[in-house]
Amino acid sequence: MTSPARWPLHPPPSAGEALSSWLTRIAAAHRLRLDELLADNLGTYTFDVFDRTTGGLDITPPRELLVALEQRTGRDRHELWGMSIAGNVPWLLDDLEPSDDEEAFHTYVRQHHVLLTARERPARLASPWRAWLPREPLRRACPTCIAGPERVPGLTLVSQLPLTLSCPRHGCYLESAYGSLDTNIIWVDGHAEPRPAPPAVRAMDQRSADALRVGIVRLPRRDVHAGIWFRMLRTIIDELSTSATHARTHAHTLREVWASIEQPIRGGLSVWRSFELLDWSIQQRLLEAAAAAIAMIEDGTIRAPGTDGALFLPAPHRPADDGRTPRPIADSTRTQAEPIDYWKAVVDSFNEVVSLALADPAQAELLYRFVSSGPGGPNNARRILADIGITEYASSQNIP
Ligand SMILES: [Zn+2]
Repeated sequence: MTSPARWPLHPPPSAGEALSSWLTRIAAAHRLRLDELLADNLGTYTFDVFDRTTGGLDITPPRELLVALEQRTGRDRHELWGMSIAGNVPWLLDDLEPSDDEEAFHTYVRQHHVLLTARERPARLASPWRAWLPREPLRRACPTCIAGPERVPGLTLVSQLPLTLSCPRHGCYLESAYGSLDTNIIWVDGHAEPRPAPPAVRAMDQRSADALRVGIVRLPRRDVHAGIWFRMLRTIIDELSTSATHARTHAHTLREVWASIEQPIRGGLSVWRSFELLDWSIQQRLLEAAAAAIAMIEDGTIRAPGTDGALFLPAPHRPADDGRTPRPIADSTRTQAEPIDYWKAVVDSFNEVVSLALADPAQAELLYRFVSSGPGGPNNARRILADIGITEYASSQNIP
């Protein structure tokens, strides 16, 4: 039995590229349309890109498709899975299917509080609901990525979601496009001169990019897991959608944030609807306001009374040792007698992390993400973790 033939041309995906974008580029390289490539060139398996019941290439690609693509391109199917939204569950969203359970919204959006206290946030009825996925995928690209000297091809997965406004590589706004083939793109407004995004927007989007890339976001107080970052960001958006009447004593905070981007409170939203169902124009305003709010907390312009607001403030000041204040005897004795063995500390820490990962799938996932950022990538990371008996973590279970 011979193995299925590779397609003659299969350019590598670019960083963060969506599965549909990469396959469209491969199809174009063979002078085919995407639907033709997947209908007639996968052996006995066929995939209908027009069939809405399949979940779509970028939402949840079927396992059979990923296996066929692995055979035709040589790219690991786990890597291809990561180019879809499903490959980012549960960090980005809890569930791919819109949930009728009223608790789904509450669980994602109401666990954290930043700009308002819990009692200042009105009850919302949002069902069916799922986080971040708009009614139709956005089509956006970075003009500098496309036209600059690097000429990064394709559209990223995250650019399809109302989650970021700018390109983390160049700091300019992502611009709407009708579609792209490689670095040929049709912009909605006919041309796209790069527009630099404000520092607050760039900082917020960089954190979201870090969350998707390495699973950890650096905040002033401490590092937080990607899952917490996306839920806090969604929380801030929900808080900024709150009316002055509900925000009560902190309505002035919301007004200050909105005024900083020259918008009325709630960005002009008259009747509340969940962020995911709003028009892109209002979603943009809410993302701009979220970025402004975070920057204003960090520079002390506004106070964040919610329980998680302190994460955006620097850690409490600890006075540095001036060298003259006598140390406790035990401490000074240890320092003189036992110089710190940093390698021993590394080994001890690693052993501790392995123990945690064996007991807790969330810790195992963090370890997996750390190891997979090194040489060998995800496959090597899975092998290393399996060798030490760690098999229970989200990225192992999500794989089709
Ligand atoms: Zn760019």
